[in-house]
Amino acid sequence: MIILMKKTASQNQVIAVINAVKSFGFGVEQSSGTNGAVILVQGNPGHLDKSVFGRLNGVAEVVQVSGKLNRIYRKEKEPDSQIELGKGVVVGGADFNIFAGPCSVESREQIIATAAFLSSRGIRILRGGAFKPRTSPYSFQGLEDEGLELLVEAASQYGMITVTEAVDEYSLDLIAEKADVVQIGARNMQNFSLLKRCGKLNKPVLLKRGFNATLDDLMVSVEYILAGGNSRVVVCERGIRGIFGNSYKSAVDFMGISDFKHISALPVIVDPSHACRSRSRVIPLSRASAAYGCDGLMIEVHPDPDTALSDGPQSLTFELMDQLLLELKQITELSGKKLKLY
Ligand code: PEP
Ligand code: MN
Repeated sequence: MIILMKKTASQNQVIAVINAVKSFGFGVEQSSGTNGAVILVQGNPGHLDKSVFGRLNGVAEVVQVSGKLNRIYRKEKEPDSQIELGKGVVVGGADFNIFAGPCSVESREQIIATAAFLSSRGIRILRGGAFKPRTSPYSFQGLEDEGLELLVEAASQYGMITVTEAVDEYSLDLIAEKADVVQIGARNMQNFSLLKRCGKLNKPVLLKRGFNATLDDLMVSVEYILAGGNSRVVVCERGIRGIFGNSYKSAVDFMGISDFKHISALPVIVDPSHACRSRSRVIPLSRASAAYGCDGLMIEVHPDPDTALSDGPQSLTFELMDQLLLELKQITELSGKKLKLY
């Protein structure tokens, strides 16, 4: 169990919570992160109702954790981590970074046109799926090896870095060799053998939260990568299912983002495209994410979304991408960040 204290909590309130924990016979470890103190309850408080501590003065949130976590925690007074992705691109801290590109790499023309456009706007992180985890076996499955080659070619032509999803051991090894950042998608967030392999990589990992994953599940998955020795992890919140009935739209868990950033110094970006699934909602959701204080966005953008082989309805046109960037310049300031254009 983790008790997150409000940023405004007094030292006396922190001590009172620690004493309450001890009175139940549990051990305590405390760190005072930049977003407020974090109190780790040691022992096995699984049977205790969260509200026992949740109702104490100064407590912001109580998070249940199922297993032992070690490395994910923000250390004493540790500032937000800045994760180097390659070629001088750094995510976290005061910068607000944009990851952008098509859902799938479809052709040389398509990915080159996208890279040319994005780089001309100062965006340096090119995303594009080569190995696609599609919901239907009859949908376009990606250009696979060729798609990866085309993504790398387009990025190197425009001085960009690449992010692309690994779906199995084969694609992971190939992507780790050729791309700059390995993406683990929502469907594989709990593929622990893949996560263990990510832990051994000398490449940063963009870990997307599964759409049914609790905060606890997400933290365990991050810990798997950290435990292997790879500390370069960026988390991506892409929405969780549940409140939209049987629709496949998801809700961005903003409270989960701030709880995660309270517990851990690692950066969290938001993917509004896969959460809302419709172009008209990408900009509003991006605005909310930027104002809320996340560390960046991952946006699907396509030169001609109506002909896209995957996720066209949620992909921004270049024109809409320009509008989004214009808005983000101002909105990011609301959370004390700066839109990072290179
Ligand atoms: C993607 O980013 O291409 C993707 C498939 O997203 P998710 O894993 O979040 O569904
Ligand atoms: Mn997509």
